Amino acid sequence: MSQFDTVVIGSGFGGAVTACRLQEKGSRVLVLERGRRWDVADYPSVSQKNWLWDDDEPEKQNGWADLRLFGDMSIIQGAGVGGGSLIYANVSIEAKPDVFEQGWPDAIRYETLAPHYATAGEMLGVQTIPDNQWTDRTHLMKDAADKIGAGDRFMVVPQAITFDPDFSYDRALPMDRRHSKTFTNAHGKTQGTCIHCGNCDIGCPVQAKNTLDLNYLARAEQLGAEIRPLHQVRWIKPVEGGYQLCVANLAAGGREEVMTVARVVVSAGSVGSTELLLRCRDQYKTLPKLSRALGKGWTSNGDFLTPAIYRDREISPTQGPTISAAIDFLDGSEGGAKFFVEDGGYPDVIGNMLDKLGRYPKLLNNRLGQALVKYASDTDPTSSLMPWFGQAKDDAGGRFYLGRRWLMPWKKDRLKLDWDYRKAEKAVQGLADMHLRLTKATGGEASTPPTWSWFRNLVTPHPLGGCNMADTPEQGVVDQRGEVFGYPNLFVIDGAMVPTALGLNPSRTIAALAEHACAQID
Ligand SMILES: Cc1cc2nc3c(=O)[nH]c(=O)nc-3n(C[C@H](O)[C@H](O)[C@H](O)COP(=O)(O)OP(=O)(O)OC[C@H]3O[C@@H](n4cnc5c(N)ncnc54)[C@H](O)[C@@H]3O)c2cc1C
Ligand code: SF4
Repeated sequence: MSQFDTVVIGSGFGGAVTACRLQEKGSRVLVLERGRRWDVADYPSVSQKNWLWDDDEPEKQNGWADLRLFGDMSIIQGAGVGGGSLIYANVSIEAKPDVFEQGWPDAIRYETLAPHYATAGEMLGVQTIPDNQWTDRTHLMKDAADKIGAGDRFMVVPQAITFDPDFSYDRALPMDRRHSKTFTNAHGKTQGTCIHCGNCDIGCPVQAKNTLDLNYLARAEQLGAEIRPLHQVRWIKPVEGGYQLCVANLAAGGREEVMTVARVVVSAGSVGSTELLLRCRDQYKTLPKLSRALGKGWTSNGDFLTPAIYRDREISPTQGPTISAAIDFLDGSEGGAKFFVEDGGYPDVIGNMLDKLGRYPKLLNNRLGQALVKYASDTDPTSSLMPWFGQAKDDAGGRFYLGRRWLMPWKKDRLKLDWDYRKAEKAVQGLADMHLRLTKATGGEASTPPTWSWFRNLVTPHPLGGCNMADTPEQGVVDQRGEVFGYPNLFVIDGAMVPTALGLNPSRTIAALAEHACAQID
């Protein structure tokens, strides 16, 4: 047996909460995280390298974002200490109470989760953008909601960002880092206040994002938990008194070692946890009793984006937090389709490049450098682009499985996804149509991207399910506290346990479910 009592696999919302709460209860916790521990100076936006994770060769390429292509569905996720919190847009919002009325274990209702939502919100330092700091996108969202008679559905969204009440777009160079006010948070970590730079998805340069490494994981480490970055778990096997894990050390070329521990919590995310358990059941055959429901009931959470152009209105999509506001149609009032419209910003790629060059003045001291500076200060080629974004409550009809490789068909070890767009069609189309209506009402121009209107392809940053929670092993893979049916002391606690679409951003619900699970684990 190792010196640890609990190994947590993955350090996103499920893993960070679990590591913190179990360490608080006196369990000696080890967190194994496949990604790096990112530092501001190492972000890909600074180094201009290590952007992507390659799951075929993670020891060679273990970058910021893990993009998986599964035919009609593509999935993007974070990799690193802090999991999806590093790459996410910080929206930290509760699911609607009626979401829990169907498809969940009897013990999970909104009322069960309410106190855990509150605790998670406090730990994550959730705030809303101050009234004096609305971005051009926030104003457009409000105007659009008013114009179609849905003003009462408009809201600024709760976010895990530390805002500065004194920030103002009216001051000189508002996004200059020097305006960020440094402070020490409740967990002893240094952070700064938000300067609206728009980099939320590629790493906050001033640590204004309250990422998990700055709160839950920081507390876990202070209490004695150990976090090992660049450690990827390959299989789990039951042994006398616990479980054996095979762990690849990616920093050492993928060298594998086997360790034994009494309790294992799989928190590798919807795709990661489902893949790991599928490999254990069907490839390595180390967990043969896993439920037949494994891999089933997966949902993309209906994410959809429509770009719109405004010829006479500044949108400045690269300024301000990536998402700031929402228009809520989750009551199904639009012909039964349930969706949540949001604004979606994106990072200023040229600005980031110049910012990097600015640190190496010699690189700017030539004609190309000067031309670039002039171009960037005179023009923002995308300033009139509004990315209408949002999620929809689609049916959880996807199924992950291990299938054959094209080139080596005798090998059945490729993670594949069966996803039938028809299960998402009504909800996603409702959201896409609303994007067009909101655009038209505010004088913009948009059409639904052909990736959806012609090919029915989607991209999601919000994968949910695969190891669904349920009351019986026939219906799901884990029980209401995340324990795997048939395998005591083996848990899945993360987005993989969520059995239905939420129709809005899921991280707060995942954190609340993890708080709920840990409250019941000794
Ligand atoms: C661009 C983007 C924007 C987003 N914006 C928002 C938002 O604004 N609000 C919101 O609520 N959600 C947002 N999300 C989604 C959110 O990030 C996820 O829902 C959330 O992170 C899921 O939490 P999790 O614990 O299930 O998994 P994750 O946070 O994905 O954590 C899983 C961790 O496990 C690690 N891992 C995987 N496999 C292994 C293995 N075998 N061994 C060791 N470690 C492993 C991964 O590297 C990762 O760190 C966004 C996602 C993206 C990609
Ligand atoms: S807008 Fe910039 S400063 Fe604010 S949270 Fe996002 S990345 Fe950090």
